[in-house]
Amino acid sequence: MERLWDAGKAILHADLDCFFAAVEMLDNPRLKGLPVIVGGTGPRGVVAAASYEARIWGVRSAMATARAKRLCPQGVFLDGTYSRYSEISKRFHSVLRRFTDEIETVGLDEAFLDVSGCLQLFGPPQAIASEIRRLVKEELGLSVCVGVGTTKQVAKLASRRAKPMISAGTIGASKGVVVVWPNEEQEFLDPISVRELWGVGPKTYQHLKSIGVERIGDLRRLPDATLVGIFGRAGARARLRASGSDSDTVVSGSLRKSIGREQTYPTDIYGPEQIDRELVRLADNVANRMRIHNSAGKTITLKLRFGDFRTITRSVTLASATDSKGEILGHLRRLFPEGASERGIRLLGVALSNLTLGGIAQLRFDDGYHSKREEELAKSVAKIRERFGSSAISPASLIDATGVGTRKERHSN
Ligand SMILES: [Mg+2]
Repeated sequence: MERLWDAGKAILHADLDCFFAAVEMLDNPRLKGLPVIVGGTGPRGVVAAASYEARIWGVRSAMATARAKRLCPQGVFLDGTYSRYSEISKRFHSVLRRFTDEIETVGLDEAFLDVSGCLQLFGPPQAIASEIRRLVKEELGLSVCVGVGTTKQVAKLASRRAKPMISAGTIGASKGVVVVWPNEEQEFLDPISVRELWGVGPKTYQHLKSIGVERIGDLRRLPDATLVGIFGRAGARARLRASGSDSDTVVSGSLRKSIGREQTYPTDIYGPEQIDRELVRLADNVANRMRIHNSAGKTITLKLRFGDFRTITRSVTLASATDSKGEILGHLRRLFPEGASERGIRLLGVALSNLTLGGIAQLRFDDGYHSKREEELAKSVAKIRERFGSSAISPASLIDATGVGTRKERHSN
């Protein structure tokens, strides 16, 4: 008889294998079986994704490309084609949405699904997981691993264990789906390194190690006072996560329809110079917000309201999505109707729509951002991207559709 999912929520974590590298192999079958490394190839470039064949050589996501080249000189290093990854990511998410709307996008290649409400319709969670895996293989030609559990933390750690293991220079078989049944969370979690638990950054890990706490089970058994001493107010939450009984919920966030900014002026503005200054300001503002929301848009719309309240909008749709201030500004200048600056403008608005998840490049940090607040993280992403540009591309898993940073993964698959 089939075992029943008879307690708790049913949460899936679906994670595409070596996403960018896998897409490159899909599009160029000659790359199959080779150590493919996608990332920034400039001097400050970072590895965004590596095939399992490259991981055998020790290449990992978020590693400096220069180091990856030393470890794996025979590797095929590619800059990556982000519009293509974004397109495939959309198709991946559309497969997931056939099962539920309760999807939390973690990155281009990763999402949590709460399928608790659709077990009647689609069968037990392990069957949904297998079906997702089958559909993604069949329709996208890619491999996805799925973890199943009653909490997000458990599902996440389960999907990681569904991935092929690399040991002694060989790529092991992929389990594909790992299910942690209700009431078996502790058994599953206890032997796992505390390093893999959300909320445990490098510093906290060192601290825990120094008091002999290496495994999640050790942490679970710590007295309250010790937990509070280490995690502060988050102590109780750490214990719940370590017990597989936290209540982190799947927060469904689909991509926004548009990102924009409008400005009504206290007195009408006139003249090409004043108006151009305002267009520069709006373009800057919208470009920054695009970055913070990790989006790029294909359609740029300019809205004008004249002193007499007459309102017009003009838009242009580009061949490929942008989040660049300069590009947005260039189009706004072209969209601005000739002679309109002499008529007195009461309101100007700029919006980007037709949005693409993931912006132009995805960023992830290797270390040190673990316990930072999500907003700070989102802002740092925008800043770092500004500093390093597209040569600092790194892995896909940090930013979700709303631009909110997620917890750091130590090992990405
Ligand atoms: Mg992945």
